[in-house]
Amino acid sequence: METVGGERTTSADLIVAVDGPSGSGKSSTARSVASRLGLRYLDTGAMYRAVTWAALTAGLDLDDRDAVAALARTTALEVGTDPAAPTVHVGGMDVTKAVREPRISAAVSRVATNLDVRELLVKRQQELIGSGGVVVEGRDITTVVAPDADVKILLTAEADTRMARRSAELAGSADPPDEDALRDQVLRRDRDDSTVARFLAPAPGAVVIDTTSHTLEEITDRIVDLAGGSR
Ligand code: C5P
Repeated sequence: METVGGERTTSADLIVAVDGPSGSGKSSTARSVASRLGLRYLDTGAMYRAVTWAALTAGLDLDDRDAVAALARTTALEVGTDPAAPTVHVGGMDVTKAVREPRISAAVSRVATNLDVRELLVKRQQELIGSGGVVVEGRDITTVVAPDADVKILLTAEADTRMARRSAELAGSADPPDEDALRDQVLRRDRDDSTVARFLAPAPGAVVIDTTSHTLEEITDRIVDLAGGSR
C-alpha cells in the first residue's frame, strides 16, 4: 500500500455516506461513485424493502410491530455489494427485482418506521460496512449508521424532478403509476420516512448537493473530488 508521510493514500478503507429523499438520485450516484473509486456499494433501502417483502409474503399485518420485528430478526438477509450488479436475497431467494415493485414502495415506510426493525438493520449495516471501502446510501447514513464517514453527502432535488425521475424509472413496468400513485410513492413516503430519519437537513459536516440541474457525471466528479480531499 502506498503511503505519504505515514498516511494511507488508497481508498481501501474509505467510507462515503449518501443520504437523501426518494428520487434525489442517491442510487445512481452512489453506484457511480463506488465504481469510479473501486469501492463496494451498500443499498440500505433494499434491506428495508427486503424485510417488507418477507413480511408481506408471510402474510403479516405490517402494523403488528412485534411480529414484523421478530420476522426481521430471523430472516436470512444477504446483500450483494457489487456496484455493477447489487443483489438482495431473502432466505436464499433472489428478490432483487421483486423489492422494487410498487406494492413494496407503497408499504416500506410502515416497516421502516418500526424502531425495532431499524435497530436491527442499522446493526447489520454497520457490520456490512466493517472497516470500510464502501459507498453507503440511505436516509440515516450520515446521521446514525456512519456519522464518522470520510465523506458525507446529502442529495436534494426539487419535488417535480423527483417525481419525474420516479415516473421515468417505472415507465416500462407492468403497472406504471398514475399521478396519485407517484405522489404517494415519492412525497407521502418522504413525509412518513422523515418521522424516523432526519434526511431533509444536513448532518454536521455533510455537503449538500442539489441534483436538479446536474448530470450524473457532474455529481460523481464532485463526490470523487471530495473523497480525494478527505485524507
Ligand atoms: O432508497 P429506497 O427508496 O429504496 O428506500 C426504501 C425505503 O426504505 C425508504 O422509503 C425508507 O422507508 C426506508 N429506508 C430507511 N432508512 C434507510 C434507507 C431506506 O428508512 N437508511
